[in-house]
Amino acid sequence: MRLLGQLEQQLHQLDRQKLLRRRRVADMPCAPHVTVDGRPMLAFCSNDYLGLAAHPRLVEALKEGAEKYGVGSGASHLISGHSRAHDLLEERFAGLMSPYIEQARALTFCTGYMANLAVLTALAAVSGRDTDLFSESLNHASLIDGARLSRANVQVYAHGDVEALEGLLKASAAKTKIVVTDSVFSMDGDLAPLPALLALCERHDAWLVIDDAHGFGVLGANGHGALEHFRLRSHNLIYMGTLGKAAGVGGAFVAAHATVIEWLVQRARPYIYTTAAPPALSHALLASLDLITGKEGAARRTHLQQLIAQLQDGLRLRHWQLFPSQTAIQPVIIGANEEALRAAALLHAQGYWVPAIRPPTVPADTARLRITLSAAHTAADVAQLAQAFNAIEREVRP
Ligand SMILES: *Cc1c(COP(=O)(O)O)cnc(C)c1O
Repeated sequence: MRLLGQLEQQLHQLDRQKLLRRRRVADMPCAPHVTVDGRPMLAFCSNDYLGLAAHPRLVEALKEGAEKYGVGSGASHLISGHSRAHDLLEERFAGLMSPYIEQARALTFCTGYMANLAVLTALAAVSGRDTDLFSESLNHASLIDGARLSRANVQVYAHGDVEALEGLLKASAAKTKIVVTDSVFSMDGDLAPLPALLALCERHDAWLVIDDAHGFGVLGANGHGALEHFRLRSHNLIYMGTLGKAAGVGGAFVAAHATVIEWLVQRARPYIYTTAAPPALSHALLASLDLITGKEGAARRTHLQQLIAQLQDGLRLRHWQLFPSQTAIQPVIIGANEEALRAAALLHAQGYWVPAIRPPTVPADTARLRITLSAAHTAADVAQLAQAFNAIEREVRP
């Protein structure tokens, strides 16, 4: 009982600090118009950037995949769980990434979280403790956990600070050097200076690991992500894209030089010691890639860009600040926690679902409402949201 008492006390403390998180149960597919706790809401919080999560063609492909391959994979990839569907998907990703990565090969993972743990731990295993890992300060939790688990010597550089990183790289004598960064930062929506980072990495013989969770499917004319957007090409690049956001399904892939991928197959524990994802998901992902890289994907990206411009134009904020972001992540910086919570509550009361993000997720005094747009939104949805935001700012900050 003493152990349970400790937990109860800690949970109680979180509750008192207003830090207790609650899940809402969704009774319908992911979409902008949802019913939450019996009330109709207009949601601006999912990462379903292209609106593919409930696309009829993907639903059909998942059914077809289950009929063709069954449901479970039955084993890990290296035992007997690596199905034709997984293999076809890897080949598609290798082809997709070959303009950006020399001798590209790809590997799929159950989740982006596992892919990040896999890449960082396997790369660091090459030289053991003689590894310096340089991590951008706003990186996603899965990269932070991967860096810790890698037992490399981790140094954090300030957000977007290429000069600081250069200083660290110059001072490093480690056998293996790894720079790791999100491409699109999840709480701000801004882009990492990838061309400058890659130039540095090439000069200092370092790997550049890019987490493109919010860029794959969205950035680039063909939806290939951050590398297409910036027109990068190198053999130092290790690219991670997640498949549960714009791709609308789930899972992740890593693309890199074939030798890097072979090393991951041999050494990455989050790849080796887990049951392969259901092959039907790979089958659905092949259909998702057809959509993303085809005409429909292009049309959805154009619509999304129009919505982003419309929101930026429609918000007439006097005190709050729309963070400068060209991506689907559009945060409105409010500052004080209580004010952000009050604004979120007012929006919620009017039927808009926009999450308030507070420290420690973001720096102190930068509490914000994080709007995420999707190609599934209409211009009318965005017009309504902008109007509500403008009115609520005047109410909260007269
Ligand atoms: C969502 C996300 C991940 C994790 O991907 P999952 O497939 O959801 O596990 C990793 N990195 C970033 C930046 C993300 O936003």
